[in-house]
Amino acid sequence: MNPTHAVVLGGGLAGTLTAAALARHTDRVTVVERDTLPAGPLPRRGVPQAQHLHVLMSGGARAMDALLPGTTDRLRARGAHRLGVPEDVVTLSADGWQHRFPASEFMITCTRDLTDWTVREAALALPGVSVRSGQVDGLVGSEQRVTGVLVDGDAVDADLVVDCTGRASRVSHWLTALGARAPTEEVVDSGLAYSTRVFAAPAGAGTGFPVVNVFADYRSGMPGRSASLVPVEDGRWIISLTGTRGATPPVDEQGFADYAESLRDPLIAQLIRAAEPLTPPRASRSAANRRIRSGPDGAWPEGLVVLGDALVAFNPVYGTGMSSAARSADALARVLAEHGHAPGLARQARLAIDEVVETPWTTATTQDVRYPDCRTALADPAALTYTEEDDRIARWVGALALRHPVVNAAMTEVITVNSTLAALQRPEVAAAMTGAGARPALHEAPLRASERRIVDGVSLAG
Ligand SMILES: Cc1cc2nc3c(=O)[nH]c(=O)nc-3n(C[C@H](O)[C@H](O)[C@H](O)COP(=O)(O)OP(=O)(O)OC[C@H]3O[C@@H](n4cnc5c(N)ncnc54)[C@H](O)[C@@H]3O)c2cc1C
Repeated sequence: MNPTHAVVLGGGLAGTLTAAALARHTDRVTVVERDTLPAGPLPRRGVPQAQHLHVLMSGGARAMDALLPGTTDRLRARGAHRLGVPEDVVTLSADGWQHRFPASEFMITCTRDLTDWTVREAALALPGVSVRSGQVDGLVGSEQRVTGVLVDGDAVDADLVVDCTGRASRVSHWLTALGARAPTEEVVDSGLAYSTRVFAAPAGAGTGFPVVNVFADYRSGMPGRSASLVPVEDGRWIISLTGTRGATPPVDEQGFADYAESLRDPLIAQLIRAAEPLTPPRASRSAANRRIRSGPDGAWPEGLVVLGDALVAFNPVYGTGMSSAARSADALARVLAEHGHAPGLARQARLAIDEVVETPWTTATTQDVRYPDCRTALADPAALTYTEEDDRIARWVGALALRHPVVNAAMTEVITVNSTLAALQRPEVAAAMTGAGARPALHEAPLRASERRIVDGVSLAG
């Protein structure tokens, strides 16, 4: 049999994890990347979102460990935090404050540059994996089968091409150029924008401080104003303010502080006052939910898989993009283990990946569509309509998830990208829906005494 060759387009997180997935089942893997990839946790042009807050959910961390064993341990050894969910997370959701039940899941928090470097270093060291520096300009093949790619105008043959070029992907255009049907593109765009600043945590809060989220109430009819604080390596905090259309967070220093004061709770504003800024605020507007699907006839060429943000990019506030990419790469590895490079691989992989991304897509889009002037393009617009009864149920489940340990554990599995929404239909969760066994609603942030002192500006070291 001829040696197999796969080409991965883009050497970002999805691309390097895909290279790891392919390496076990393919003789040669070439990752094509237009940026020079740094030999350390450093910023680069192709991943501008890296300066914003990134949390890695446990579902994604587990997938990374399956593909590249020891990844989360290496991240932690380099300063990443492992925080229990919900124990180490202080969240005001649309439905109220969440109790800090004992952790049933976890998240990893560090800078995006550290995550990317740690994954990249391990993936690119695998036997058979190499990087080709260059710009992908198109696909080679026919509407039935992709047989290679164009890199800086040169044709490179491949048994399998995996597009991981992120939100900038031109795969629809490239497919049309081959004479194939362009995929359907779906968009749910609440106009979300980010403003992010990095801070030195106050003395005593460099480690052991929780993630803090103050989220908008997406049902209020008002533009959504939210913010999150995440502890990262080297005693720093990253604070991102986010706003939907009509509430864009400012990128000047005073505006940043004022916007934090305008949130549903002053907690983030108080923490900003307690910390020392290390960077000016920086903006991002790459936050619409966007997804491509094969057309109604399901037509899709052999030899091509699309994965990561190139396939589906989520509103980042939900923190699911990296985890979905990791789980998608892991799904590809499992399909390859079963199928090898046999005909039908691309279709099997697409079905497996679609299953992975379905729940994060539904979770993000059903909330985002509620914000004023949310712009949508949907294959089935009915998918995002809701009735008063739907709303009533969503409110009840949402509120109970904050107060009932069984409902909370199921919701936590979903939010941390470990389970589909079906987790909320398990018999024990259905039984808990009466509300019996729920804790009382919280009327203020559930802070430990040491955390309260930080909020009040009293250093633990003092
Ligand atoms: C503000 C913000 C905050 C976020 N926060 C979170 C979070 O908290 N948690 C989370 O899980 N996710 C978060 N995300 C989402 C996360 O950043 C993405 O899901 C993730 O980067 C997807 O990885 P990717 O490899 O698919 O794409 P990218 O990281 O965008 O990588 C694409 C790569 O392809 C390369 N490339 C592009 N075009 C070409 C070409 N033609 N030729 C060669 N190379 C090319 C680029 O240089 C780049 O290296 C956030 C996103 C944003 C915008």
